[in-house]
Amino acid sequence: MKSVCVFCGSSDGAKPRYAEAAQAFGRALVEADLALVYGGGKVGLMGVIADTVMAEGGRAIGVIPELLVNKEVGHNGLTELHVVPDMHQRKKMMADLADGFVALPGGAGTLEELFEVYTWAQLGYHQKPVALLNIDGFYDPLISLLQHTVDEGFMRQTYFDILQIDADPVALIARLQGYQPPVSDKWALKREEV
Ligand code: AMP
Repeated sequence: MKSVCVFCGSSDGAKPRYAEAAQAFGRALVEADLALVYGGGKVGLMGVIADTVMAEGGRAIGVIPELLVNKEVGHNGLTELHVVPDMHQRKKMMADLADGFVALPGGAGTLEELFEVYTWAQLGYHQKPVALLNIDGFYDPLISLLQHTVDEGFMRQTYFDILQIDADPVALIARLQGYQPPVSDKWALKREEV
């Protein structure tokens, strides 16, 4: 693994704990010699993690669409900042550049980005790990909902288990590095059943 894509809020969240954890995750990335790939903004937890990685001597690669350069304040102190035409190209470039994905706390944008790479893993479009940094139980309601989808027969336990979950940055990075993707994709499993 050479790089990790982080999805996180363009806001700071209600507690200082979120920014502290974003800093801790940034430091853990640099210690593990992993580059940060992220949305390229300077605001919220996005800015916090990028600033931390740069201050610690790491590599931060931002990918931002033209429309958001001003709104999310494109970070001009990164190792690389790619300005792309639209959101689709942003997500594609981030996904191509990264060897794994981690969601820190965030809002609808973070969830959308997380679910795209999670469902792509489920369909077998990529074999990269997808993870949640579950700071202070932030993702507990989402984890419960996903377990509910398994219990109610809408998702296999195998796909729930793709998600790597940990509250500790160093432990989460170790999980990413040791990740083994499931042997079959969603549709291959269905074919095996018939
Ligand atoms: P948020 O979690 O809503 O603060 O957003 C975090 C990041 O997700 C920001 O960089 C947003 O630009 C991005 N984002 C917002 N909506 C979308 C979307 N539909 N697809 C991909 N990224 C998005």
